[in-house]
Amino acid sequence: MTPVLADPFLAAHQLDPLVFDICWGLAPVSIRDQMLRGSIIAQRLVKARLIGPAEPLLVVGAGMAGVTAALTAAALKVPTHLVESQKILFALQRQCATRYLHPCQYDWPLPHWESSSFPDSEDWPRLLFAYQANYASQLAKEWKTSYLQACSAISSIHGAAHLKVFTNLKVENYTHVASGQRVQVTFSHSDSPDKPTLNSFAALVSAAGFGAERVQARSGRPHSAGGRSSPGAVFKSVGFWQTDTLSQLDEYGTPRIVIVGAGDGALQDFLRVVGGQKSAASLFSRLMEGPATQTARPIIERAIQAAEDQAQRAAMWAEPNSTEDHSIQLRLHETHRAQVNRLLDSPGVGDEIIPLFQAMIKKQCYQQITLIYGCNHFPQTYALNRFLVCLVEELTKRASLQKRIEIMPETGIHYVDCIDHDPDPHNPKACCGRPHELYLEGRQCLKAGTSKTVSSTPIGADLVVLRLGIERGDEHPVKSRPRVPHRQMLPYMPPYPVI
Ligand SMILES: Cc1cc2nc3c(=O)[nH]c(=O)nc-3n(C[C@H](O)[C@H](O)[C@H](O)COP(=O)(O)OP(=O)(O)OC[C@H]3O[C@@H](n4cnc5c(N)ncnc54)[C@H](O)[C@@H]3O)c2cc1C
Repeated sequence: MTPVLADPFLAAHQLDPLVFDICWGLAPVSIRDQMLRGSIIAQRLVKARLIGPAEPLLVVGAGMAGVTAALTAAALKVPTHLVESQKILFALQRQCATRYLHPCQYDWPLPHWESSSFPDSEDWPRLLFAYQANYASQLAKEWKTSYLQACSAISSIHGAAHLKVFTNLKVENYTHVASGQRVQVTFSHSDSPDKPTLNSFAALVSAAGFGAERVQARSGRPHSAGGRSSPGAVFKSVGFWQTDTLSQLDEYGTPRIVIVGAGDGALQDFLRVVGGQKSAASLFSRLMEGPATQTARPIIERAIQAAEDQAQRAAMWAEPNSTEDHSIQLRLHETHRAQVNRLLDSPGVGDEIIPLFQAMIKKQCYQQITLIYGCNHFPQTYALNRFLVCLVEELTKRASLQKRIEIMPETGIHYVDCIDHDPDPHNPKACCGRPHELYLEGRQCLKAGTSKTVSSTPIGADLVVLRLGIERGDEHPVKSRPRVPHRQMLPYMPPYPVI
């Protein structure tokens, strides 16, 4: 049986004796959260004396969480191996030039979100990868520089062999050896010239990510629409962490865009495209700039903050995707809608925002943008994304822009029919700009009842973006037992001095 650890952070992340996970099934998962988790776990393992100068650590995965954990442990004199199955560190962000990342966007409406930097002031302890809002691939380059500086500082103090980093190498499995005092690891065959010098560790921290993004749907037509689908054919859209086509829409003339999903990925894409801004934060700043809006803002933001706090506290203990979860998120969603109306009905605000919104939409080249999502509320999402989508929905009605912007709740994707071309799951960009017909079905939350009525009339789209969540499967990447999904509350800023 796994012994219960006294340290609450270690206890919450333990999978097996000496084995910890700081990604799988956890929420929230922003890069900033992962930086905090990586830093805290390494410090707590040292404090608990599970790792130390003679007690080596293995970290699996070199995204933000793993790199932070490995550097923190190595700086605290722990011999550390960091193993990454891909060729590069920070692989997700390195491959994406179109995603603008804002470290505090998720904290709106708290005042510090406007700082765009993490930590938000010099008063907080700094972390290794403090960052300011920027494009993902650019940030990944900056993080690589910080990483190299930290490595050279560590090797000048403790020696070069102290922190060993292996790319192109996969951790396949582990077992407990030496009467349970060590974790022995199996690596997959690697063509990397560097071979791990150790295969037995005092502790293993898995920072192997959250699973694969679900970006696919069945391709073809349903039977009810004279189906001619080839069984098993799959349509795939460009993934969230790939350089995508949404930043150069004019290359497609006047495209019809459909975004499917209700999580932060779908909402962020919808928001950046709808007003042609680089991020949700830029859209918010642009829409809220008028003096009457600025005056009305604080009271609205206080009401949202209170509702978010209440929902967060309730959701911490609700079973995800349950009826309880549904009622928490629905109530929160209704509060956002009510506050949007309160804002727009405040003196002078409608007269400021509606013309601004109309002018903004007029400039966009798309013919129509549609957001399709599966219930009458979003799941647990960041407050700014939820508020802005509700604001855009209401502004669309008040500015009579329904022909350009459509938001379809209680709807899911059934089939994507590629017209006059075949889907190419290996090259999703090949489908961009080409005509598609989307067959939709009725959808509601899991336990709130599901009606699978399929619409026989498809809707047209030239760009289809699927943001359908994360595919976790039953298996953890390092073959441990899967973690129960776990909602957490983390500090906004580094809570105490770190290395
Ligand atoms: C749709 C979507 C939208 C998101 N939007 C945002 C956003 O706007 N802003 C934000 O801050 N965050 C966002 N996130 C979260 C973001 O992806 C994470 O915060 C961050 O990338 C996670 O860092 P990580 O180190 O935990 O995992 P990852 O960056 O996924 O790194 C895990 C690494 O482990 C490696 N690995 C896996 N298995 C093994 C193995 N067996 N052996 C060796 N290596 C292995 C992988 O190759 C990978 O490089 C989003 C996530 C998704 C899915």
